[in-house]
Amino acid sequence: MSDAGIVIVGSGHAGLSTAETLRRRGYPGRVRLVGDEAGLPYQRPPLSKQFLKGEWDETRLIQRNAEFYVKHDIELIQGHRVIGVDPDHYSLELDSGEQLTWDKLVLTTGSRLKRLPVPGEGAEGVYYLRTLAQAKALRAALTDVTRVVVIGGGFIGLEATAAFVDAGKQVCVLNGADTLLPRAASALVARYMASLHQARGVQIENGIAVAAINAHNGRVLDVALQDGRTFPADIVLVGIGVEPDATLAEAAGLKCKDGVLIDELCRTSAPDILAAGDCARFRHPLYHRLVRLESIQNAIEQGKHVAATLLGDSEPYAAVPWFWSDQYDTKLQIAGLADGHDLEVIRGDEQGGSFSVFCYARRRLLAVESINAPADHMISRRLIQSAISPTADDAANPNFNLRDLL
Ligand SMILES: Cc1cc2nc3c(=O)[nH]c(=O)nc-3n(C[C@H](O)[C@H](O)[C@H](O)COP(=O)(O)OP(=O)(O)OC[C@H]3O[C@@H](n4cnc5c(N)ncnc54)[C@H](O)[C@@H]3O)c2cc1C
Repeated sequence: MSDAGIVIVGSGHAGLSTAETLRRRGYPGRVRLVGDEAGLPYQRPPLSKQFLKGEWDETRLIQRNAEFYVKHDIELIQGHRVIGVDPDHYSLELDSGEQLTWDKLVLTTGSRLKRLPVPGEGAEGVYYLRTLAQAKALRAALTDVTRVVVIGGGFIGLEATAAFVDAGKQVCVLNGADTLLPRAASALVARYMASLHQARGVQIENGIAVAAINAHNGRVLDVALQDGRTFPADIVLVGIGVEPDATLAEAAGLKCKDGVLIDELCRTSAPDILAAGDCARFRHPLYHRLVRLESIQNAIEQGKHVAATLLGDSEPYAAVPWFWSDQYDTKLQIAGLADGHDLEVIRGDEQGGSFSVFCYARRRLLAVESINAPADHMISRRLIQSAISPTADDAANPNFNLRDLL
């Protein structure tokens, strides 16, 4: 082994978690964290929540101050994109032309936005939301607009919708799927979230197909649908999802399939290259299928796991996936993965706005979605981790103490 140490590509949540864990656990070698965004690594979730609402400023988003990296001897190379990796020669190339060598390489390149493939998508007044730079541009644009069209009914679009409504905007959500939060939430929760927005005057159009974004003098005017309807807009936010950024891995010949394929120790198909976070796809031992997760929990936990593997541990990655979303005064927390469920059971008071939906497949508990019910969420994570399924009757009975099952 040389003294090149570990190079981590991507300074998002997974990359920083890897670097921090390496140091916390006493890794003595060189650690370099390379990211193509400017400035210090920051938290992404508040971009569509506190930051967009103007409650947090930019400094609050910063994960660690500059002294932290010096103190822990993490070499931060920000504002530089890695443009190629050579697994045979243990080297990579930065967009500056500089070559770095490594003993171990970690890919935490995250996700990239899906673009809306229609005419006018590049007009002035059309925004996307993934990075701090994009969030700043969107927040600044809000000051003098009235009508906002949000294209996409997923988490980012809905969180931004809540922020727009709080700022007094008229909002219309144009959603390609038949319900909000397709694939991400049960039908019950999707309906509940729709009712929250509609109660605040948000117009929601499901099952639509956008034909074009019309512009006047280069600036957005309205969004035209394939059915001929148009929706006037001062600005448009496109939130139609992301795809894994596996560009580097693919070009380097690593096995990829909707993400960089990794094993239970976060190792890719190439020796000494590991991956974690949004960009990685792996077989989840609790669900027995390949998954790729877009969540902070997974990015942070998998980053820690990469570090553990690099330090010689051999524990398989088996963390229960969990996720949250804040919209208005509602906190949605999801434990587990509900895909393929055949039964939804409500626990709690849907009318009162505090309840959970237990999602089962063939009587096995797959996931629990909690609305303003954090205690349900915490216990559900433990139940799923331990593969314990309450009966549907027990789950629905608020007097039954789920803790008794543990
Ligand atoms: C607005 C918003 C709100 C969200 N809210 C929530 C939430 O409430 N709860 C939740 O669980 N999740 C949320 N998420 C998802 C969560 O932020 C992601 O799952 C998480 O950021 C993934 O971390 P990551 O490190 O894998 O990837 P990323 O955070 O995408 O970081 C990857 C980094 O690598 C960089 N990079 C890529 N390629 C290269 C290269 N070749 N060279 C150098 N750098 C490169 C990218 O620019 C990026 O900075 C939200 C996401 C967004 C955008």
